[in-house]
Amino acid sequence: MFIGPPGVGKGTYAKIISQKYNIPHISTGDIFREEIAKGTELGLRVKPYVERGILVPDEIVVEVVKRILQSPLCNRGFILDGYPRTVRQAEELDRIVNVDVVFLFEAPLEVVVERVSGRLLCPKCGAIYNVSWKPPRRPGICDICGTQLIRRRDDEPKLVRERYQLYRQTLTPVIDYYRRKGILVEVNAAREAHLVISDIEHILAKIFKLNPG
Ligand SMILES: [Zn+2]
Repeated sequence: MFIGPPGVGKGTYAKIISQKYNIPHISTGDIFREEIAKGTELGLRVKPYVERGILVPDEIVVEVVKRILQSPLCNRGFILDGYPRTVRQAEELDRIVNVDVVFLFEAPLEVVVERVSGRLLCPKCGAIYNVSWKPPRRPGICDICGTQLIRRRDDEPKLVRERYQLYRQTLTPVIDYYRRKGILVEVNAAREAHLVISDIEHILAKIFKLNPG
């Protein structure tokens, strides 16, 4: 499980680890954005919350996560990103699956603001770029599929600060929950991405006695 403030880079780390170990990266935020874009029933239900940047109610999120984690897709394991957001969700999760390790990514607010406001997203294939440390080869164009990149509205500095504060308020009890269980590992995410990834790999190797690939 990957937790940390929005914009700390955990989505990027999750994508890399997911590819290296060939396990699915499950991001409730991505799922909700896809459902909204497709205009599904679930999309319509979560849209008002996601657009205002507030927490989607427990009963909706629990239902969605339960369905995915119990599907064959997750037979070999999974990375959960952006979930759980409340202690109730954490308790529900314990009833469905066994969580091996929780990575808590930490970075100061100003580091997060700088990273997020430079972030560009491909609306077609989901690739993430950053104008300062991972720019696309052609400005504003996706390297992978050639689509025009966009900046998400909720990546504006003011909204990033608000989400960071909301995260601090809501996630502290969740962090304490996993700390008490003894499965919380804190990672300094204010460093370059390859150093963060290397830390994650070392810890995974220790826990699961495996190597990437
Ligand atoms: Zn693309």
